[in-house]
Amino acid sequence: MKFNELTLNKKLLSAINDMGYDNPTPIQEKAIPIALQGEDVLGLAQTGTGKTASFMLPILEKLSKGPLKKIRALVIAPTRELAEQIHQSSISLSKYMPIQSVSIYGGVSKYGQIKTLKKGIEIIIACPGRLLDLIGDGVINLSSVEVLVLDEADTMCDMGFLPDVRRIMKYLPKDIQILFFAATMPDEIKELTEDILHNPHTVQIGKIEPAKTVAHYLYPIKSVSLKTNLLLEFFKITATGKVIVFTRTKHRAKRLWSDLESAKLNVTVLQGNMSQNRRQQSINGFQRGKYDILVATDMASRGIDISEVSHVINFDMPSTTDDYIHRIGRTGRAENTGEAVTFLLPQDKKLLVKIESLLGYKIPEQYIDSFDYNQSIITNKKPTFNKELAKVNNNYRKPNRKFQYKKKSIS
Ligand code: AMP
Repeated sequence: MKFNELTLNKKLLSAINDMGYDNPTPIQEKAIPIALQGEDVLGLAQTGTGKTASFMLPILEKLSKGPLKKIRALVIAPTRELAEQIHQSSISLSKYMPIQSVSIYGGVSKYGQIKTLKKGIEIIIACPGRLLDLIGDGVINLSSVEVLVLDEADTMCDMGFLPDVRRIMKYLPKDIQILFFAATMPDEIKELTEDILHNPHTVQIGKIEPAKTVAHYLYPIKSVSLKTNLLLEFFKITATGKVIVFTRTKHRAKRLWSDLESAKLNVTVLQGNMSQNRRQQSINGFQRGKYDILVATDMASRGIDISEVSHVINFDMPSTTDDYIHRIGRTGRAENTGEAVTFLLPQDKKLLVKIESLLGYKIPEQYIDSFDYNQSIITNKKPTFNKELAKVNNNYRKPNRKFQYKKKSIS
């Protein structure tokens, strides 16, 4: 199928062309025609499937007809980063149209957001808390909204936003169109869909399972104290592009970031205690290639679209299988391939069983020959990059992988 078979106007088709999209992704192919009919959509799709355009394109098509300078579409997203990303998509896709959007989230001053709102905009992309704030301040009136999108509804549920979402629903007209997206369907989400959607068309892209373009590997290890050294060894011998390393807590993210920096790796960090500006700098820097490695916690990194991530490393095992899917959804995006590496402690085996049952196969184990798994003392010795070792050990990994990893010179 081609985009021009989707009855989208020429301005949208030109913008799609400028973005380099050749053909609709499966979710776009299925969801866009339904949404264009004005029907409710329940989209069950993991991240990286192109779901942002699958709701932004029908919204922009709808808004191309009718009044301007009225709030006609509302997109609710769980994290500031995701809201900002959707906002950027909206800007790119509407570049040939007079449609304006604004992103609304906390952690930054209200002033700029209020100034933009006062100019008159058509689309609000918001996180629930700040949106309710501005509704309370009388700055936002949602009575003219025609379409609502709830993106990553399962993440909103995890983050405790469902009561806020239900409160926001009360400010919206009753008969609006709703486009609802989630990667997983916990019970609370099922209930919410039953309460708010009207005869939705369910659009499911594959089974809810990790992306097929990702190869999974386990790196068993006996003690948590060996993890940093194992990671450094992994970097020495592995050909990688952009890498995201997940830790369980903010504190562990900060600590690992600092350890990797000391080891002269080109690394940045994303964790919940950082200011919005610092978070955005990290994401932008990583996206643009200023950094090779991003150390992140789950909450800080949900929904972020970072292209061409070659490896997701579970430095710490996630808490749930849903988190595993979300994490590894950062790689293998939009037809690219990627690797998901998990450092596995003996106590992680329970969750591993569930992950493997979801994948439908056993994840192969990998051991690094050059790593001393029995070391008991962690030294502060700086790692040295051993090119010869990298060449030898690359033989047991994927063939014909270019070594893209840019190392700083080791002092
Ligand atoms: P999303 O799931 O919306 O976060 O999209 C994941 C990535 O796929 C983003 O980098 C999009 O720019 C990209 N993308 C979305 N639609 C298409 C398409 N039709 N063709 C190629 N890439 C796409």
